[in-house]
Amino acid sequence: MKVVLASNNAGKVKEFNELLAPLGFEVLPQSLFGISSCDEPYPTFVENALAKARHASRLSCLPALADDSGICVKALEGRPGVLSARYALSDHKKSPSDADNNARLIRDLQNVTERQAHFISTLVYIRYPEDPEPVIATGYWQGEIIDEARGSGGFGYDPHFLIPELHKTAAQLSAEDKNKLSHRGQALQLLLKQLQALA
Ligand code: IMP
Repeated sequence: MKVVLASNNAGKVKEFNELLAPLGFEVLPQSLFGISSCDEPYPTFVENALAKARHASRLSCLPALADDSGICVKALEGRPGVLSARYALSDHKKSPSDADNNARLIRDLQNVTERQAHFISTLVYIRYPEDPEPVIATGYWQGEIIDEARGSGGFGYDPHFLIPELHKTAAQLSAEDKNKLSHRGQALQLLLKQLQALA
């Protein structure tokens, strides 16, 4: 069965395909149907993921999968949250880079000793645009924000996200190790279990 992924990220398409092929799914990027990304105006990850999935399903007339992810810092009441990719926007940057966002985060945490944070990834699968029973899976990855960047792997906030028990940041892990531990890896495994139960 064909499923449209509400993303054009080739890495995500490949990852979803590898996991879902055994269940008979063929995951296709939304660009294949000429679908451009939709707005993500909501304050929660699940609402944004659902909006992206509905948009892709409506325009492709196929089942759709979408994900939304980010980092939530306890001392900042969950910010950057859904604004993770655009956190430094308020610093008058039109499209902030990872470095801009990280600089803003470290600035916001100046003199703050509570550094607990987690990454979150929410995945949504729907069979129709108005599916009353979306399959929803959320994965979490706990860590701490450190001031100095460490490591050159990964992307986004990885160099400032320390996993205390490993004494390493997410940017110091191999892609394979990160996938095993990460919020996205956890969410994918949970989604897979739910889809298997439905099959
Ligand atoms: P999106 O879900 O692809 O829109 O990601 C939102 C933003 O969250 C990214 O631009 C990153 O800033 C941040 N983010 C999500 N996952 C990760 C991760 O695994 N490492 C570092 N940053 C992440």
